[in-house]
Amino acid sequence: MLQIRENISLKNFNTFGVEAYARFFVEINHEEELTELFLDPKWLQIPRLVLGGGSNMLFTQDFDGLVIRMNIRGIEHRISHEEVYVEAGAGESWKELVDYCVNHGFAGMENLSLIPGSVGASPVQNIGAYGVELQDVFESCQAFEIASQHKKTFVKEACGFDYRESIFKTELKNQFIITSVKFKLSLQPQINIKYGAIEAELQNRGIEKPSILDVSKVVSDIRVSKLPDPSTIGNAGSFFQNPIVTKAEFDNLKDTFPTIVNYPADNDKVKLAAGWLIEQCGWKGKTIGRTGTWKNQALVLVNHGNASGAEIYALSSQIIDSVYQKFGVKLQREVNIY
Ligand code: FAD
Ligand code: NAP
Repeated sequence: MLQIRENISLKNFNTFGVEAYARFFVEINHEEELTELFLDPKWLQIPRLVLGGGSNMLFTQDFDGLVIRMNIRGIEHRISHEEVYVEAGAGESWKELVDYCVNHGFAGMENLSLIPGSVGASPVQNIGAYGVELQDVFESCQAFEIASQHKKTFVKEACGFDYRESIFKTELKNQFIITSVKFKLSLQPQINIKYGAIEAELQNRGIEKPSILDVSKVVSDIRVSKLPDPSTIGNAGSFFQNPIVTKAEFDNLKDTFPTIVNYPADNDKVKLAAGWLIEQCGWKGKTIGRTGTWKNQALVLVNHGNASGAEIYALSSQIIDSVYQKFGVKLQREVNIY
């Protein structure tokens, strides 16, 4: 029987650890409960918010609607020759799914180790790290369409994946609830260690032929050394997206800022490191009231204790303004604001 609770604090349901109240709150443990929920037309008429681990969210006010917390669990796999199909419930922890795959020798997700959040949210922003994106291992997902109350399968081509983007964030925003995701992995690892400090760290450890377990451990250790742990310092990872600019825009910037950090992007464009831009404006490690930026990565905004979502949002606006003034580049927030 579904339990719909009222006036629930979301403080423990978002990794920024900010206080906000949900007018209504329901936890979904089985797919059928979504059908049961929407039998009552009341829930079609008020604002709704689907919540996973709350690690990519900033609540700036109370949510005057229904929060639907996804808690559908379960991981299954099927081996077919050298390929492995792994399917996981939306409420599974992403970290635990990656650990499951790495421990079984299923290759492809190891660079995505230790990303917080749920499996169901992973397609929403096509999560990525260390040169691998969700779309590299994504096969399909099952989603519940709120308006029709029908289940739909989305194959990769239908998801509109792009850099930290998908159709679930754009055209279909708030229309579908992802209930499970299927991944295609391999029994033949194709190790990808060219990104960031992975290769150097493997060398430090004297590992010449790394296994996927080695890569996963190194990625996890680098992440722990660089990023604040949300259980002690509230944060939602990178607050802004890395801006993608045209080659002409980049050439202009490079004339004025010869050391500007950049990487090639699709369609002959150039990706700028948002963290570097913010750092150049003097924000790295700064504390402003109860908020600030992280000492090891200026792209991460932090809650130093009891900050409100509005305070963190205000800091993000100040950062956007100063980066725009110095570089003429408008940062976009990656974190979802409510
Ligand atoms: P939530 O924050 O709960 O939700 C995010 C969005 O997805 C919301 O719009 C929500 O409505 C929607 N949503 C959630 N579940 C569903 C569902 N089942 N169906 C439909 N919509 C849904 N991200 C990266 O890409 N790469 C990283 O390396 C990375 N590192 C991070 C490090 C730290 C320390 C932190 C705190 C965050 C990091 N993130 C990273 C961001 C975050 O972990 C990911 O975006 C993650 O996928 C969010 O999952 P979640 O379950 O917490 O989603
Ligand atoms: P980093 O290694 O200091 O690099 C800074 C930025 O430069 C990253 O954002 C990354 O872009 C880009 N970059 C670095 N090496 C690159 C290469 N070889 N090719 C293309 N782009 C390169 O970054 P970090 O902060 O420690 O994060 C490491 C990885 O974890 C990154 O992939 C980052 O996206 C991911 N991460 C994401 C979040 C989040 O919340 N979204 C939080 C923490 C870490 P990309 O971001 O495009 O990779």
